[in-house]
Amino acid sequence: MKCWSSSRRDFLKTIAGLAVSGTALARTRRPLERPVLIVGGGLAGLAVLDALKAAGRQAVLFEASPRLGGRILTIRDGLEPGLRAEAGGEQIMRIHQRVHRLASDLRIPLIDYPFLEGDLVFRYHGRMLRFRLPSDLPAALTDGLSPWEKTRWPHRLHLAYTENADPLADDDPRSALQWLRDLGLSRRGEAFVRAFAAIDPEQTSAAYFQRIARREAAGGNSQVLAGGSDCLSEALAARHAQSIRRNTPIKTVVIGANTATLLDAAGVAHVADQVVLALPLGPLLELDYRPGQPRWLSRWGAARVVAHELKVHGQVDARELAALGIRQHIMGFEFPRMTWLLPERSANGKAVLSATAVNQEIPLLQAARFRGVQDMDRLLRQQLPLLRSLAVKTRGEDWEHNPLIGGAYTYAPTGSRGAPPVLREGPLVLAGSDYSDYSGWMEGALQSAEAAVSEILRYSP
Ligand SMILES: Cc1cc2nc3c(=O)[nH]c(=O)nc-3n(C[C@H](O)[C@H](O)[C@H](O)COP(=O)(O)OP(=O)(O)OC[C@H]3O[C@@H](n4cnc5c(N)ncnc54)[C@H](O)[C@@H]3O)c2cc1C
Repeated sequence: MKCWSSSRRDFLKTIAGLAVSGTALARTRRPLERPVLIVGGGLAGLAVLDALKAAGRQAVLFEASPRLGGRILTIRDGLEPGLRAEAGGEQIMRIHQRVHRLASDLRIPLIDYPFLEGDLVFRYHGRMLRFRLPSDLPAALTDGLSPWEKTRWPHRLHLAYTENADPLADDDPRSALQWLRDLGLSRRGEAFVRAFAAIDPEQTSAAYFQRIARREAAGGNSQVLAGGSDCLSEALAARHAQSIRRNTPIKTVVIGANTATLLDAAGVAHVADQVVLALPLGPLLELDYRPGQPRWLSRWGAARVVAHELKVHGQVDARELAALGIRQHIMGFEFPRMTWLLPERSANGKAVLSATAVNQEIPLLQAARFRGVQDMDRLLRQQLPLLRSLAVKTRGEDWEHNPLIGGAYTYAPTGSRGAPPVLREGPLVLAGSDYSDYSGWMEGALQSAEAAVSEILRYSP
């Protein structure tokens, strides 16, 4: 079974219903309307296509690769039936309302991570420390924290500091780390913030860091899509198969006063009144723009930095892990600093253990010749000796070196203003998670798609 299937019949009925309503809407189209062209078949591009079609507009999507979904990539090969690993988009927070709405529209249920209430495990100097409350942690780990910090979850210190702080101005020149120190962060607390904040607090603008940390603090427990994150992209793609051109990389964008012409890799020209570029920052900068780069790209794109994230996965025996007292998360200062079990269990009790690496951890691992960090088993042998006999299948996806993605998300570095992007320039409209308030989240891809579609409809209602 690939995607969740017990409601497949309902799902097909939904698609059939939508096709009918699409036909009704199509009758209202103006006869001379040229299709809106969308570049990029990740979640943002697919959501733009879906919304434009629902509004009765013609649209065609170009995807460079044979696969749709972009940074949504569910791995099932090599794992036991019923198990999956997510190489990209995975966790959905309670506040990710757009993802919740879309999943419900597509009839894909969300499931909680199990055992979220159980002990947490902290690896420290080769020992596995189990704790339920911050006060359970041994002094060796918490010595040097301030009395206030000792009462907080140490791996969520950056969120704790953020929750009660006054909002920062967009042009605050401080780095996130300087700002947290100004709020009272101790030296020991800094080690936790450096290890567990997803973005390097020294390199990130304080205002940007505050915005995303506040949201994370409010996020609530995570869930995942039943059957796999790719059920989301595949269900959207299935609605509009006729309007999607796979294996069609766009190379050149010729920008006119009222039209844009896209040249694909085969040299075929596609002309449109409106074009949505739904691409990550790297591939967006790679396009050949004539007569020159759009202004928003030169200005705003230059003020963003691409961060890299990599996940690796191993198939493990969940019962043996439970016997070791490990039910959900393992964290630590060294790599892998965050390791977690996916909710599914196979018939014979196997589960998928995933680990994540961000930015500077990736080259460190590559230097250590972990064969491009593809080898979870060796990783576990080195870093988690207790688990070494359990991991049998391993894999990851190296987004950093994927030319169609070139990284995982973007952020505003220290000193940048982090102003919102200008979405439109002439016939070009920008979309994609990287340009949203939720960079690095599926929610951001949907938020950006919503904004791009309202811009398209405003321009030619
Ligand atoms: C390791 C990792 C972990 C993540 N974890 C989470 C998580 O837990 N929760 C969460 O919500 N999100 C997570 N995300 C983020 C989420 O997956 C992304 O934000 C979202 O999927 C991005 O969608 P997008 O459409 O903006 O871009 P993409 O998915 O990058 O789509 C862009 C598409 O454009 C195509 N393309 C590129 N160049 C061209 C061209 N020249 N012509 C035509 N097509 C082109 C690409 O092939 C791709 O399909 C994670 C991402 C990564 C990489």
